Order: sequence, then C-alpha cells, then structure tokens
Amino acid sequence: MPCTIIPNSSLSGSGSSTAKATTTFTGDVYMDKIAPPTDGIMSNHVTFLPGARTFWHHHENGQILEVKAGSGWICDKGERPRRIRTGDLVQCPAGTVHWHGADEGSMLVHLAVSLGKTTWFGEVSEEEWRAREG
Ligand code: MN
Repeated sequence: MPCTIIPNSSLSGSGSSTAKATTTFTGDVYMDKIAPPTDGIMSNHVTFLPGARTFWHHHENGQILEVKAGSGWICDKGERPRRIRTGDLVQCPAGTVHWHGADEGSMLVHLAVSLGKTTWFGEVSEEEWRAREG
C-alpha cells in the first residue's frame, strides 16, 4: 500500500473539527486531528489552555510530542516535571507513565503522534502539579 500525502492536512479533511477533551484532562484542552487514525497511529494538534494538563497515562508503543507554541511540562511518574518549550521534541517510550500540559501562565500547543493504545490512570494531584515549582 502506498504512502498517502495529505496536502494542507490541518486545514482540510479530518482537521476541520476541534474536539474539547474532557474526561482524561484537567482544565481546557482542545484536539485537532491532523490525519485519519491508521494502524494504531493517532496524530493530533493538542492545545492546552494555561494550567491545563493530561491525566497520568501511557502509550502502548510510545509517543512523540513536538511543541509548536507556548511552554509547559512533561513529567514521568516518580520524577519531577521538566519544562518544555516551542521547538522541543519529546519521545515517550512505550509504557512509560507520564503527563504533559501547559504552564500556568502560558498555553501549550503540541503535535502528538501516539502509537498504539493509550491507557489512562488518575488525575495529576495538586501535590504532583505543585512539584514543578521546586
Ligand atoms: Mn502522552
């Protein structure tokens, strides 16, 4: 099967709708699919309003994030949150439990290419959220 070129992907086809993510996110988060999901590959632009973040989760076969605008945080379970900024690329290995989200004073927009099934856990607690300050 040949590769597919999707011209202007974010402006046409599947990218024409924005969905508000709710149940596994804290705060206001919007998803724009940039390509149809194929073979367990999900590609989205994800916009986090200031302070918004994912719940804890992992990706069956890993995930790549590319920060397109703003700044925020990536945090592995048991570690301190680390800052991410426009232009940064994050590689999340298969099965590594983590969260990502915006800074308190900034939006975060990232491309997310998620491989395989995403498994969701609980909300990032206030204490875990505050750990970024230290
Ligand atoms: Mn993730």
